[in-house]
Amino acid sequence: MANLGIPQNTIEILQKYGFRFQKKYGQNFLIDTRVLERIVEAAGITKEDMVLEIGPGIGTMTQYLAESAREVVAVEIDNNLIPILGETLAAYDNVTVLNEDILKVDIAKLVEERNGGKPIKVVANLPYYITTPIVMGLLESKVPLESITIMVQKEVADRMQEGPGSKDYGALSLAVQYYSKPEIVANVPANCFMPRPNVGSAVIRLTRYQEPLVAVKDEKYMFNLIRASFNQRRKTLANGLSHAPELGVSREDVVAVLQQVGLSETIRGEALTLDQFAELSDLLGKEE
Ligand code: SAM
Repeated sequence: MANLGIPQNTIEILQKYGFRFQKKYGQNFLIDTRVLERIVEAAGITKEDMVLEIGPGIGTMTQYLAESAREVVAVEIDNNLIPILGETLAAYDNVTVLNEDILKVDIAKLVEERNGGKPIKVVANLPYYITTPIVMGLLESKVPLESITIMVQKEVADRMQEGPGSKDYGALSLAVQYYSKPEIVANVPANCFMPRPNVGSAVIRLTRYQEPLVAVKDEKYMFNLIRASFNQRRKTLANGLSHAPELGVSREDVVAVLQQVGLSETIRGEALTLDQFAELSDLLGKEE
């Protein structure tokens, strides 16, 4: 089968099937062989690996993945792409296409059945409208996972990687960094896609830690605290947190704990590290 990373081949197959792009599914297909090679290289795929691809489109990246991996499972929501994938992936006996919504797939079950419960690699040029639920769903669930190598909106990649003090630092940064080590491996301009998205893109690799980066007594409470801190971005922590009923703390409680850990009572959430959030969470949260 012709390499779909070459624009002319993509155009031909789209015309043959009279395919119409659906905006609601975030369809921007890759048409750049160097970017495709870079993604597969960054994911470090070997013949031992099972790869889950989210949104194969017409199978452009799937072809590359099938060449390098032992097995590829590709989950595509758009019915109109299924016959096209039947043709573009016909040469590979190690690819399974599931016509489903990734947010409804029981990934843990898939990994158990097809990889004996051993960690898989996720690789995708993600539909940008659901980047956060996909990434958070994968990280928070107990799905055995080695790494996630994904194309996302450039701004979202920055948010995942930033530390305290940056305007891009927030709840997503902290959640991603609690579970994994994020590294941006490529910046990708809009002309590498068909049709061109109106945002810049980047490939980011999230390598999952065996154990989360910091120890915290109540993970859920810490993430509630983090969300409350950034919901009220312009407020000081003392004011913001006391207005979040799910935390059950007063302004005085917050001020006392901030003093205890040597932080100013006028500090804002954007200045705190993950370690500091964990410490505050342990002190403010109720004992189990
Ligand atoms: N991987 C292809 C490529 O790189 O050319 C296509 C990437 S395109 C950005 C995103 C793909 O995800 C589209 O094929 C779209 O139909 C699919 N998609 C969108 N929402 C989905 C969902 N909820 N579950 C599975 N696939 C989805």
